[in-house]
Amino acid sequence: MKGNMYSEYALKLVREQHKIFDCPKCGHELLGERYCPSCKSKIIYNGEKDYYLKNSKLYSAGNSMQKAGDTMQKTGNSLSSFGCAMTLFITIPVIIILILLFL
Ligand SMILES: [Zn+2]
Repeated sequence: MKGNMYSEYALKLVREQHKIFDCPKCGHELLGERYCPSCKSKIIYNGEKDYYLKNSKLYSAGNSMQKAGDTMQKTGNSLSSFGCAMTLFITIPVIIILILLFL
């Protein structure tokens, strides 16, 4: 489990848009806590996954690497397998990081 006990996404919404979240289980008011202070259930905020996906530097880095991979793919058949391997090489760590974020 990550040491971060607050959701960066929810904290941002609470601070900037004065949003109020309620625990889906017990209705306790949340200020961006990762775990409900009342019933201790894990909170995943609406839109949170999309937020992390769009803001992830690794995700955009992965995209540009993927484009580089695609370009290489076009240069010839011999290089196409290298492009695929590269895409896989970039995509897998990004997926792992996303999974770790929500554990
Ligand atoms: Zn609760």
